[in-house]
Amino acid sequence: MNNRVMEPSVTGQQTDSHGGFRLERLSNGWLVGRFAALEVVGVSHLVTTRQGPDVQQVRHDPASAGREIARLLNLEDAAFLEQVHGGEVVMCEQGGCAGFADGLVTARRGLAVLGKSGDCPIVLIADRQGRAVAFAHASWRATVARIVPATVHRLVSLGCRPSDLVAGICPSAGPCCYEVGDEVRAAALRAVGPHAVAFFHPSGSPAKYRFDLWNASMDALVRSGLARASIHIAGICTLCRNDLFPSHRREGNAAGRFAAVVGLPLG
Ligand SMILES: [Zn+2]
Repeated sequence: MNNRVMEPSVTGQQTDSHGGFRLERLSNGWLVGRFAALEVVGVSHLVTTRQGPDVQQVRHDPASAGREIARLLNLEDAAFLEQVHGGEVVMCEQGGCAGFADGLVTARRGLAVLGKSGDCPIVLIADRQGRAVAFAHASWRATVARIVPATVHRLVSLGCRPSDLVAGICPSAGPCCYEVGDEVRAAALRAVGPHAVAFFHPSGSPAKYRFDLWNASMDALVRSGLARASIHIAGICTLCRNDLFPSHRREGNAAGRFAAVVGLPLG
């Protein structure tokens, strides 16, 4: 549905903008996404596409893909998670696998945190004061487990003020395509509250809905104290743009992953 992402024709040129998000070609040939709003904050970040580190490498060897991405961002290393679709958040101070969880936070300069996605929204969060960065893997199950508020809470425990936080909701299965059953809607209403009804739209099939994970994450961030103007939805659907992004729903269990990465620059 979203066809606004265009191939860049010239290396390094800005090509399009959507919610502050654009695709750009790096000098090493990679096509990556970036949020203007996160660049303004001064953190290093990017979202990979199929034209970047191999999507199977990102899935099966995130340590090596993370080191490569960290080098590109002038960072020292990258930490990642064994993502399990829950509500746990962990802190990290060194590269490599930081545990089984869906939120990862670091206050260490030069260390990137790397989220993997093959349809699920990765929410990148940065503090304007440079205290910390984080990602949340906001799949439907992790959304129901309240991963986004838990990640913001961990940042606040480090001294970040919610009003200083800026968030980018990365490409994922969009409200145009992400069909779920009644049991998912019921679980979300139970866990998130009755207002979550606004994130479900009739899909045309009986007892099926299209789940708007982007606005569900936006809402969770706002309710956690972030300013709406500090939250940016990339607005690119991985099913519609399977040419650019791997999609578990399109490709099944063989689907690769793309990476969404953010880190505090070395001082
Ligand atoms: Zn779509």
